Amino acid sequence: MRMKTRLIHGGVDGDPATGAVSVPIYQVSTYKQEAVGKHKGYEYSRTGNPTRFAVEQYIADIEGGIRGFAFGSGMAAISSVVMLFDKGAHFVVGNDVYGGTFRVLSKVFNRFGIEATFVNTTDTNAIKAAIRPNTKAIMLETPSNPLLTVTDIAAVSEITQDQNLYLIVDNTFMTPYWQNPLELGADIVVHSATKYLGGHSDVVAGLAVVKDQALGDELHFVQNSVGAILGPQDSWILLRGMKTLGVRMEEHEKNARRIAAWLSERKDITKVFYPGLTSHPGHDIAARQGRGFGGMMSFDVGSLERANQVLSRVKLFTLAESLGAVESLISVPAQMTHASIPAERRAELGITDGLIRISVGLEDVEDLIEELERALS
Ligand SMILES: *Cc1c(COP(=O)(O)O)cnc(C)c1O
Repeated sequence: MRMKTRLIHGGVDGDPATGAVSVPIYQVSTYKQEAVGKHKGYEYSRTGNPTRFAVEQYIADIEGGIRGFAFGSGMAAISSVVMLFDKGAHFVVGNDVYGGTFRVLSKVFNRFGIEATFVNTTDTNAIKAAIRPNTKAIMLETPSNPLLTVTDIAAVSEITQDQNLYLIVDNTFMTPYWQNPLELGADIVVHSATKYLGGHSDVVAGLAVVKDQALGDELHFVQNSVGAILGPQDSWILLRGMKTLGVRMEEHEKNARRIAAWLSERKDITKVFYPGLTSHPGHDIAARQGRGFGGMMSFDVGSLERANQVLSRVKLFTLAESLGAVESLISVPAQMTHASIPAERRAELGITDGLIRISVGLEDVEDLIEELERALS
């Protein structure tokens, strides 16, 4: 089955009990047992719920894994994955991963004896140099935020396979529609489903997928023990959003390509970061490992003052954190998502004061360009 068909027919097709075409919201906590331990596969909704199971099976199908798990947020998914590991474990992590991932590893899991070293994952030598005898996993995002840096997943998976480590990839930016890390050698894929998968700025959710049965059993053990599950209502909203992932991603990308090309022709924009541009340093790898480039980009307008001027002038671009929704969103990383990083460190990473990030939505691209034109001039 091709991806667009899998997005419609993947996972659980409707409700076997009633024939309902959409999986119903099973708003239930517990299930009647005919005799002790004799039941229809569900005992208690922390352990399993049919609506949650539908979204779990669905993400497993479209990511090319065998088992999926739905959590109350992307951070709950990432944290539950980290809880697969023991005290004393060491992780090598991308130095430009989502701020919440950095925070949970360096301020929460460090308290439980799990260590992390943050490196530039586009540099396989830097990864190798950070590996220690107690390293258990490499965790990365590609493309990353906000500079859309591209890491070669297959190249990193050679290291993890060679050294018996797990490779964990956060696939939030690309979505399974464009990129399938499990097929490139990753062991675990995580998502903030709050973003493109939900797609409508109306649900906070997280997903994880594995391709190994034993690892799936272990992650289910953590999910059931810790209990950071996604509720049935939110599972249903997420399922509904994901059905249109294909058409949405095609449009996000079409609009993003157009805007990136338009921005890169302007003399008053110092830099445009979009992996779909052939000038982007990660373009060739992105083209090889994915089927598209997504709808996220950033560009440098030169100064903090000019960035603020643009923000104050745009109306169709909503000033907000988050990304991946039908409406275009705009943010200034240095003052918002990355404000907690010291200015010096931001400069090292290339997150300048004039950097603007946009999540290109599904409006008519001509309106978006007209508005950017007005805001920039
Ligand atoms: C938003 C985000 C997260 C965290 O997800 P939540 O649903 O907000 O908890 C993790 N990774 C990436 C890449 C994100 O953009």
